[in-house]
Order: sequence, then C-alpha cells, then structure tokens
Amino acid sequence: MNGNHGKNPGCVNVLSVSFLQLCFVSFNMSVAVRSLGDNPVQIACPQCHQTVLSKVDHSAGLLTYLLCGGLFFCGFVLGCCLIPFCVDRVKDAKHTCPSCKTVLGIYKRL
Ligand SMILES: [Zn+2]
Repeated sequence: MNGNHGKNPGCVNVLSVSFLQLCFVSFNMSVAVRSLGDNPVQIACPQCHQTVLSKVDHSAGLLTYLLCGGLFFCGFVLGCCLIPFCVDRVKDAKHTCPSCKTVLGIYKRL
C-alpha cells in the first residue's frame, strides 16, 4: 500500500488531458465570440432555447479608450478626444437575447 508513492503515470495522464480540454474549451469560446460582429446575428439562445436575432448594445471598450488616449496625446484636447465614445465602430458590441435579455456574447475590438 505504501509502495504507491512513486511515479503514477495515470495521474499525469489525467492532468495533461484536462489541461488540453481546458485549452480546447477556451479556444472554442474565443472562436464563438469572434464570430459575432457589429450587426445583429441569428443565434440560438442557450437560456430560452429559441433562435433569435440578437440585440446589439455598443459600449466603450479597450479600443475606445486607446483611441481617446491617442487623440489626447495628438493634441485633440478640449473634448475632441471623446469622439471615439460617440462612434459605435470603435466600441465593443454586446449581443443580448431580445426575449430573455441573456448576454449571448460580446464582440471585442481588441
Ligand atoms: Zn433568450
């Protein structure tokens, strides 16, 4: 019974397999998020199990703040650096289900 403290190949295998599964799942999730864009998409809602046209809300994302900072350092002071906050094209797009309001995914610019 005490002889089981040595190398246990089965244990290592389980670890590496779960690590690979973790990589695979996170890869799949990033692909799912990437496939969303600016525009509403037809998507199956995991919450209410209906095929719905997603509702898109734009919110300031990383790119918005970077552009704001960039414009600020280029001399666009006095409010001009806030222009990115008015342009949906540089914002993140959040897709929600119109019927149950579940967040289906967020399209990030960066
Ligand atoms: Zn739903």
